[in-house]
Amino acid sequence: MNNKSRPTASSSPKPQIADGDGNPIRNEILLALPPKESELVLPKLEFVRLKTHHVLHEPGDTLKSAWFCNSGLISILSVFQDGKSVEVGLVGKEGFIGVPLVAGFRTAPTRAIAQIEASAFRIDADKLADLLLQCPKLERRLQQFSQIMAMVVTQIAACNRLHEVDERLARWLLMSADRIGSNAVPLTQEFLAQMLGTRRSSVTVAAGVLQRAGLIAYSRGDVKIIDRPKLEEASCECYGTMVRQVTAWRSEEG
Ligand SMILES: [Zn+2]
Repeated sequence: MNNKSRPTASSSPKPQIADGDGNPIRNEILLALPPKESELVLPKLEFVRLKTHHVLHEPGDTLKSAWFCNSGLISILSVFQDGKSVEVGLVGKEGFIGVPLVAGFRTAPTRAIAQIEASAFRIDADKLADLLLQCPKLERRLQQFSQIMAMVVTQIAACNRLHEVDERLARWLLMSADRIGSNAVPLTQEFLAQMLGTRRSSVTVAAGVLQRAGLIAYSRGDVKIIDRPKLEEASCECYGTMVRQVTAWRSEEG
């Protein structure tokens, strides 16, 4: 943990903070911790790389670990008995996987799967429970993230039921781009169809509409946002609703 108190100089304007092994910390919950809590938390973390489609947990699994996402994109899926699934949440470097643990619950109700290649700081569930008793800021941040996730899951559930696939595709691309911090979202139409809970052919048509309008460029396995303001207009209201709610909550923080 030698470079924690003395951030490494970098060419970017922001100072870079790394764990004891030199892995840069981008997770916003970890970055927001006061130094006293960082000193307790960072030694308990293990940096892990997650390949595309790596499953962090399945519904019903006992959570032995939690993960502070550091890069990439993790999908939270509702899974049905016939094997069908639909995405109800998306987590990137702003977030955390293992929300039930924050409330003292031990099992997962959903599937969490790496949508694209990702990295995270893993922590044992038991160590997290100890830390929550010692680190009030960490606990507060995780409670707030749990609330944000509940809001997002509620909105997406309604969105999946009521909004058209092209609006949902626009909403999904904007959410993904925000979470990975890039306008290029690497992914296949097949996986995207699964995420949106629709047929692949519907996604192809919707992506074609957005591409012909000059909002995105789609090549095999890669979607690039070309005109973000127009993509926001093409999205259903859900994207703006979620962004405004998070902004409002952040401004209310005492
Ligand atoms: Zn919607």
